[in-house]
Amino acid sequence: GRPPRVKTVGGKSKQGPIAGVRKGEIFEGDPKEAVKNLVAALKKDGYDFTVGIDPWTPVTEAERIVVAGRGIGDKENMKLIEELAYQAGAAISSSRPVAETLKYVPLDRYVGMSGQNFKNNLYIGVGVSGAGQHLKGIRDASTIVAINNSKNAPIFANADYGIVGDFKEVLPLLIKELDNGEEKKPAPPMKKVKRSKPRKMAPKEDLYVDLGSGYEYDPEVGDPTQGVEPGTPFDKLPDSWVSPVSGEAKEEFIKVEFPEDRK
Ligand SMILES: Cc1cc2nc3c(=O)[nH]c(=O)nc-3n(C[C@H](O)[C@H](O)[C@H](O)COP(=O)(O)OP(=O)(O)OC[C@H]3O[C@@H](n4cnc5c(N)ncnc54)[C@H](O)[C@@H]3O)c2cc1C
Repeated sequence: GRPPRVKTVGGKSKQGPIAGVRKGEIFEGDPKEAVKNLVAALKKDGYDFTVGIDPWTPVTEAERIVVAGRGIGDKENMKLIEELAYQAGAAISSSRPVAETLKYVPLDRYVGMSGQNFKNNLYIGVGVSGAGQHLKGIRDASTIVAINNSKNAPIFANADYGIVGDFKEVLPLLIKELDNGEEKKPAPPMKKVKRSKPRKMAPKEDLYVDLGSGYEYDPEVGDPTQGVEPGTPFDKLPDSWVSPVSGEAKEEFIKVEFPEDRK
């Protein structure tokens, strides 16, 4: 007596990354280069690594946290996590299994949907895979950094910056790069860092803009209002073509230049 199943078309719309759309600047290759690039990017975002906090500051009160995941392996590797927390001016935190099963940190220090909700500035996850339950506890963090030896770890799709590498190789380099040779000064009261937007990368085709109206000609779209087929490059537009917004002639458009690192 059950009614027949009705097949639905489509279903749920695809969701984006759990921690929101992030910058996704993932550094691979030479770990020394990767560490330098990461620290330079964080400093550019406004993080001052000459200041520090008590590493046992409650997770929700700390401006920054270093988070140990199950990928760190043996307990002795917590020493590297502690050193990194000191140099980064951060408190120590973990994923749930590291607190609950491995018991490397107290239970009130793990982040996630059943743990602490970290909404402050800087999250640095080491050997954390990025399970949905974990990411739910960090989605309001200003900056997410991931260090993981698997390029396919889901945390990278939710990170502003990442290094693909073995933490045993990356962490000593990162600790050294953050160390200015002096004792850390007490951190000033926390100011929330604004979440940075992903940078606009250069499109495959040259981009031309009409400066007067801000209209950008997109070759993928073409201009159906003037009978221009999608896929028509700017230089193949007919001479009679004008900006559909301002009526400006083709010659008045200028080519948008993208910096090298956005190509
Ligand atoms: C109801 C429910 C609630 C949950 N709530 C939470 C929660 O609040 N918080 C939470 O954290 N989890 C929670 N979990 C657990 C969650 O599903 C994951 O199992 C957990 O987050 C995984 O922890 P992890 O990333 O540390 O470990 P793993 O998933 O085991 O990931 C380890 C990562 O380390 C990497 N790695 C291994 N070796 C190295 C190396 N040498 N160098 C660098 N990287 C390395 C691996 O590539 C891997 O990505 C919950 C689960 C359930 C069912």
